[in-house]
Amino acid sequence: MTRQTALIERLREGNARYLNAAVPCGDVSPALREQTAREGQTPYAIVICCSDSRVMPESIFSAGIGELFVIRVAGNVLDRHQLGSIEYAAAHLGCKLILVLGHTGCGAVGAALSGGGEGYIQYITDEILLAVGEERDPGRACILNVEHAVETIRRAFADHPEIPSAALDIRGAVYDIRSGEVAWL
Ligand SMILES: [Zn+2]
Repeated sequence: MTRQTALIERLREGNARYLNAAVPCGDVSPALREQTAREGQTPYAIVICCSDSRVMPESIFSAGIGELFVIRVAGNVLDRHQLGSIEYAAAHLGCKLILVLGHTGCGAVGAALSGGGEGYIQYITDEILLAVGEERDPGRACILNVEHAVETIRRAFADHPEIPSAALDIRGAVYDIRSGEVAWL
């Protein structure tokens, strides 16, 4: 098993534990808090997901302190700030597995499909509309939005001197807010 495959397996296994757990089961102990404060962080995956309060990446993957480098923004859209966060984690923390995690029942995707938002929200819905084109089915649109983000990351790091896209494992998945399951694309 390659390292990247093993890391994906770790996410899958964490999600399986989450589905059967009464309480979140990542290690958030004072001992680990102390250790990571002292030794620094070595997260094994970067997760880009929505800010939706029902989507809790550390819980979903049974991850503890220092395991996931999480970037949350409504509609899991990407702009330069998010790409900068990804670049930091990939180039400086050695985190080569990147997961874009969309979710069912996403309000941002719904707002985009209903014509888009106003004010600052429009920046988010415009990006989602760019991703989904003419698609108006929420489930399909959610997948297209994830795939668009994956492609954006791939393009952004295509010629990066330290972390070219070829050295990264960039994946997409959709989290089901009812069942708790993660469907990998
Ligand atoms: Zn959402």
